[in-house]
Amino acid sequence: MGVPIDIIPLKTEMQARSNHLKNQGKTIACVPTMGYLHEGHLSLMRMARSMADTLVVSIFVNPTQFGPGEDLGAYPRDFERDQSLCRKVGADILFYPSATEMYGSRFQTFISLEQLPFHLCGISRPVHFRGVATIVTKLFNIIKPHTALFGQKDYQQVRIIRQLVQDLDLDIQIISGPTVRESDGLAMSSRNAYLSTSQRLSALTLYQALCQTRNHLENGLTDAKTLIQSAASLILSFPETTIDYIAICDPDTLEEIQTIDRPAVMALAVKVGKTRLIDNMMLSPQ
Ligand code: AMP
Repeated sequence: MGVPIDIIPLKTEMQARSNHLKNQGKTIACVPTMGYLHEGHLSLMRMARSMADTLVVSIFVNPTQFGPGEDLGAYPRDFERDQSLCRKVGADILFYPSATEMYGSRFQTFISLEQLPFHLCGISRPVHFRGVATIVTKLFNIIKPHTALFGQKDYQQVRIIRQLVQDLDLDIQIISGPTVRESDGLAMSSRNAYLSTSQRLSALTLYQALCQTRNHLENGLTDAKTLIQSAASLILSFPETTIDYIAICDPDTLEEIQTIDRPAVMALAVKVGKTRLIDNMMLSPQ
């Protein structure tokens, strides 16, 4: 059953609680999520738990990071289960606001970055990172954490959050946790719940393509175009797959690189049926 947890639905209440905790000299770590929790989220919560006196988890399916025609309405939700998982990992507070509470009716101020969103996922999801940067900034102002944790699985997202923290001089430590995978390698994601049994098999191709690239690199193949083509052939050999992008890029700027002669990140987004999945892997030359 775990320890009791406070569920806070209101921004002002959350702010007051954080002020009170800070006045008592307590440190706060937060893990922002959209719920439908899995082991990827829980691993971040456990890390956070060990880093601060108070662990705040937020669950909010943020409408501004979904574009038209994306899966906002269908996004999986199970608050009862999420709540019990948060209890089990020892979270102290669950911040669980409604969309109206977060945005009201006349919301008009957004945070947009100038360069990082114009790569990778930002190309096919043009409003996504504006929504992410805005909600994360709002959550930081409401929860007032000393430390916030994000998953490496959403590589571009954590890169963007680090940039906005630096650019806006936010006094918050950003920690990223490793991607947690199913035993066969599929990166855990709330969206995996959309997959049929046969699509679940095809979904494995994302990780396989990343591993294949790492193996090619170990064998001395460093040309990004060739590596990407080979990854694309593997992915398209599985049923129901459509490639959104496969990119090998600079880990810092996210600009594509031609040759892996320095550390790089390979990132990809693939639709399996209608479900869009992402994954990534750091690549280092021999
Ligand atoms: P989401 O609920 O999908 O918005 O994710 C909330 C946080 O959990 C984000 O920081 C994600 O990067 C992180 N996360 C999601 N999936 C994983 C995973 N498989 N491994 C590690 N972190 C993850």
